[in-house]
Amino acid sequence: MKKIGLTTTVPIEVLIAAGYMPVDLNNIFITSENYSKYIDAAERDGFPKSLCAWIKGIYGVCMEEDIKEIVGVIGGDCSNTKALVEVLKLKGIKVHPFSFPQNHTLEAVKNEIRQLMTLFDVTTEQAEKVRKRLSAGRQFAKEIDRLTYEENKVLGFENHLYQVSLSDFNGNIKSYELELKKAIDIIKERNPLCRKLRLGYIGVPPMTGDIYDFVERFDAHFVYNEVQREFAFPRGDKALDIFEQYYDYTYPYDIDFRIRELREQIKTREIDAVIHYTQAFCYRAIEDIVLKEHLDIPILNIEGDKLNTLDARTKLRLEAFLDMLLDLKESKA
Ligand code: SF4
Repeated sequence: MKKIGLTTTVPIEVLIAAGYMPVDLNNIFITSENYSKYIDAAERDGFPKSLCAWIKGIYGVCMEEDIKEIVGVIGGDCSNTKALVEVLKLKGIKVHPFSFPQNHTLEAVKNEIRQLMTLFDVTTEQAEKVRKRLSAGRQFAKEIDRLTYEENKVLGFENHLYQVSLSDFNGNIKSYELELKKAIDIIKERNPLCRKLRLGYIGVPPMTGDIYDFVERFDAHFVYNEVQREFAFPRGDKALDIFEQYYDYTYPYDIDFRIRELREQIKTREIDAVIHYTQAFCYRAIEDIVLKEHLDIPILNIEGDKLNTLDARTKLRLEAFLDMLLDLKESKA
């Protein structure tokens, strides 16, 4: 299958129906042992220092890994992608645009997905057939998520990884399904974790993957990964069709819709506090103000930049936050 790069989660059903294998450029960037080479490549080509590392990483991956064709999400996800795709076009990469509509109505979502279908010469029936094909993998991820917050058998990083990789099924649908299935069998045999604090991770997936390991050393357990879970479409099985599935997706639309889902998950998962990760130079950091106003729970906002490990100051802030939460919980008990 011909590969096609993605700047974020898009209706991959359409691309697969058109004979492509989608590859999430973010995943290539962040899982590389030498991830900083992609940022360096972007800065060498003129990308400013004061720009989000994910954007530079995506650009670097396109250049260094000889990506020829991508779907660039120019609406709803990230305003920086709009400028990024202009540079990619300049470099000879074929860019197919896709937008999550500003106006969050089913009709508007239908229009955008239909445009994508026309672009790739795919019918609704063909896309639906793929959607059914992908449902097994998505159900497995949902089960891993359930094992995380109901049975307390999955670590926060594992939960993050298994769900975030569903944006492109790790580049191979069949083998990723098998991997998820095997993981479930192993996880079910585990003893439950018994930690005092139940935490939620919200915001874009972290550059600093060590956050899970670091935080969970303090008698804490991440039982929710907000955006990663959205990438896995946990409510997709209830959607009547592909249009409803991408309508009922919180990440690219208005914040009120996102807050409704956050509130529900905080309640269902009995979450004590939330860590809100934002990326340096990202407009989403401003959303922290709104989230703190609307979520009635302790929230710590931390920011990552180019490093893929936590810096000393952030570790100190996390430690102080967790200490405070533990005291609070003990005093309540
Ligand atoms: S972190 Fe923010 S600025 Fe960076 S790619 Fe994501 S949405 Fe865009």
